Amino acid sequence: MKSFLTNALAERRQNDLLRVRRIIDSPTGVKVRLGARELINFSSNDYLGHSNHPAVVAATKQALDKYGLGSGASHLITGHSREHEALEEELSAFTGREAALGFSTGFMANLGIIGALVGEGDAVFEDKLNHASLLDGGRSSGAHFQRYLHNNVPALNDKLSASLARHKLVVTDAVFSMDGDLAPLPELAQTCAEQTAWLMVDDAHGFGVLGARGAGALEHFGLNAEQVPIYMATLGKALGTFGAFVAGSRDLIDYLIQFSRPYIYTTAMPAAIAAATRASLRLLETESWRRKRLRQHIALFKACARAHALNLMPSDTAIQPLLISDAGRALALSKALDARGYLVSAIRPPTVPPNTARLRITLSAAHEEKDIRELVDTLAELVEKAKSGL
Ligand code: PMP
Repeated sequence: MKSFLTNALAERRQNDLLRVRRIIDSPTGVKVRLGARELINFSSNDYLGHSNHPAVVAATKQALDKYGLGSGASHLITGHSREHEALEEELSAFTGREAALGFSTGFMANLGIIGALVGEGDAVFEDKLNHASLLDGGRSSGAHFQRYLHNNVPALNDKLSASLARHKLVVTDAVFSMDGDLAPLPELAQTCAEQTAWLMVDDAHGFGVLGARGAGALEHFGLNAEQVPIYMATLGKALGTFGAFVAGSRDLIDYLIQFSRPYIYTTAMPAAIAAATRASLRLLETESWRRKRLRQHIALFKACARAHALNLMPSDTAIQPLLISDAGRALALSKALDARGYLVSAIRPPTVPPNTARLRITLSAAHEEKDIRELVDTLAELVEKAKSGL
């Protein structure tokens, strides 16, 4: 075993693919402290700056006083508190669906939804660039697992036509987590309707930021619950808290409560976290200025990057990757940015396909314009230096 582990680690290191964890000594704001150093954070998914908002922190503390910390058991035993129930009701109302179900994490939600809905004799179709949790959910479900070319609806349609499976489930990210582009959801919904396939959308990076009310990608595209019957989103990103939910028909939710193993056999998230999410949802509903400010920041970043001819990927969301290709170069740039006071993660294979290493820059409403302008100037300077081999 020892040589197996050492070899695997050595190979990762040799290929510039070794992951290391940064130790953070402050809240995850726009500025983060690592020991004695302070960096401007362009890597978190806290798109609206809710994660350390006083209202969210206060709601958590209040619920801690009332409920304590641990939930003590799974939802079906004694872990399901009044806070969890209220959160589910509020999420179903906010997303305009009959019901919602909370999960402890998004990864588990995806395993739990897909695994409960399809199995042997069924087929699951996934975009090649889907999040790992969706791919793992599809692979482990026992259904025939197929991937289609990124955002390629005709390619999906061909696969659906050729399939003789009992039930067909199509699964896609709404906003691709490492690319920032949107799935063509209206076209996907149309194809699924024509092919009697079920459509599941993971809106981890759209919920809270897209759509007129921040209700996410379906609101952005004007799609209803019939067109997208399975809507999943996470709460650890724009909402700034933790966990995930699925929203859909009452029957879908009742079915998942009975048959979704990662829902049933895990300890419920603490009630205080559910209370925190409720406070964050209220902020979302009452303070739309953060979404507007985020949109302005995205436009500013893109304009500055274009002026410097930086190699941005086609994204209009808060995820703005800069394609570098080589993993070693991406890592070197991330380190150089760190030395200049910026936290920007290098995303490397196997998280992304071979030769597509990138800097994944994420923007937040909590950034200042100045932060964004200076980041782009620094990036341009470092990319130029790297080109001339300095
Ligand atoms: N889906 C997508 C698209 C994600 O980006 C993530 C988180 N990185 C997840 C699911 C998993 O969510 P969680 O972090 O709550 O497990």
